[in-house]
Amino acid sequence: MSGYRTHFVIYGASALGLTYLLFRTGYISGVNPELVLAFILGLLYSILPDIDTPASKTREYVSKLLLASVMLCLLSYTFVEPNLKLLYLSFAIAVFLYLLWFTKHRGIFHTIYAGLFLSLPLYLISPIYALYAFTGFASHLLADGKLF
Ligand SMILES: [Zn+2]
Repeated sequence: MSGYRTHFVIYGASALGLTYLLFRTGYISGVNPELVLAFILGLLYSILPDIDTPASKTREYVSKLLLASVMLCLLSYTFVEPNLKLLYLSFAIAVFLYLLWFTKHRGIFHTIYAGLFLSLPLYLISPIYALYAFTGFASHLLADGKLF
């Protein structure tokens, strides 16, 4: 198993290559806040596949973040606005957290399909976010020998 530092280094090299390609093709013309945020998203996605490892830092932080999101949704529903979407969202997150207990290491989260499924929603915000996120995810699979 590669440590998160290894994943960061491999992602950094991949992101540099991607950035060079985007500059050369004229898709981006300079460093801007969107590019910096895309790079950071890719960095986070480069360790996301290890969410299937119960002892990993990724699992620990993502679980805490999602649990806090559930609590925030429920508090908002109770004290701010009784919008049913908040209940549905908290239920969906809770089900996701529950299902994480049954994932096996280097299982579904270590596939290119999971990378596509988790990166594509970012395309709705910005194509460059999805591109860097997917690059981060794919670089993790490459380091783990699970890309092909
Ligand atoms: Zn991994």
